[in-house]
Amino acid sequence: MNPKDAFQRQIRDLRISVTDRCNFRCIYCMPKEFFGREYEFLKRVELLTFEEIARLTRIFNTLGAKKVRITGGEPLIRRDIEDLISLLSTIPDLDLTLTTNGSLLAQKASALKDAGLKRVTVSLDALDDETFKAMNDVNFPVESVLKGIEAASEVGLNPVKINMVVKRGINENSILPMVRHFRNSGHILRFIEYMDVGTTNGWRLDQIVSINEILGIIDNEFPIEPLEPNYQGEVAKRWVYKDGAGEIGVIASVTSPFCGNCTRIRLSAEGRLYTCLFGTEGTDLRGLIRGGKTNDDISDFIFDVWQKRNDRYSEIRSSKTAELKRVEMSYIGG
Ligand code: SAM
Ligand code: SF4
Ligand code: SF4
Repeated sequence: MNPKDAFQRQIRDLRISVTDRCNFRCIYCMPKEFFGREYEFLKRVELLTFEEIARLTRIFNTLGAKKVRITGGEPLIRRDIEDLISLLSTIPDLDLTLTTNGSLLAQKASALKDAGLKRVTVSLDALDDETFKAMNDVNFPVESVLKGIEAASEVGLNPVKINMVVKRGINENSILPMVRHFRNSGHILRFIEYMDVGTTNGWRLDQIVSINEILGIIDNEFPIEPLEPNYQGEVAKRWVYKDGAGEIGVIASVTSPFCGNCTRIRLSAEGRLYTCLFGTEGTDLRGLIRGGKTNDDISDFIFDVWQKRNDRYSEIRSSKTAELKRVEMSYIGG
């Protein structure tokens, strides 16, 4: 068997960060004490161009990545992002999605859909402005994000997924209001355990609300039951309301790690490759592209990196791993 055939069965999702900048400063991702005015974000020349991203995506695609998610930082603040979507949408059979904080979605949804985007995930951690601000540190109304979600749905970027990170003491009281709001909407609300990504968010285990606790809170008011996964290794576990009001998802990255099934590979905005969300250094691909390497050279290089990976951070999380210099979520995009 060609070794790359085996590789094809192991990789599924490619996440591409297009910028490390963001117009929010979520406390769990970019606390403003660390990401203030003096913070040095990547410069424009350091970013991969859209053509470079498209070339790399084609290579990843031949290596098995059939699902591509555009992320950031905030991807919709990268200028002309729809041009990148157009380039990527020419790759056959690619499931092309994007994760956004929703702030620019109402104005961009139509252009994104026209460019070939299939679906969108919107992050929203609360429905009331006070809790929302406590999570993301901006004076931006929830209403605008809701308008973005509706605009995305109207242009056909369905089903819209809504990501809610739950942090104890801040927004666990928003779980049921979010559930009530999105039941029967056709959108899929997904709950995410607060993770120790990066080293700036001051993460503590007792700030997590576990997925079991979240499911218990929901089930108490709206009985739910589990659904079969869409495919083996699916990260979000699926549940449905027993009364037919739709589906929800849960991502228990901390309390129920899934490293053994991990099929994700990540590309940073400056072209570094990470085989784990909790990676430290990454591996440079930009130098290969700008250094005149062929697609075959780059494909062999990525194959080699993936073959050697032995990531299982979430399974071995401990006081020792806490000291590692982990990559920031706003840099690698989740
Ligand atoms: N800016 C976009 C957004 O917020 O959707 C895309 C990038 S953001 C880094 C991707 C996802 O990571 C968001 O859904 C966000 O809520 C999630 N996230 C960020 N920091 C997290 C953390 N510490 N634990 C769990 N999820 C986190
Ligand atoms: Fe920005 Fe998204 Fe991170 Fe919030 S989670 S700071 S919106 S990149
Ligand atoms: Fe994959 Fe790393 Fe997350 Fe484990 S900790 S599931 S290897 S990204």
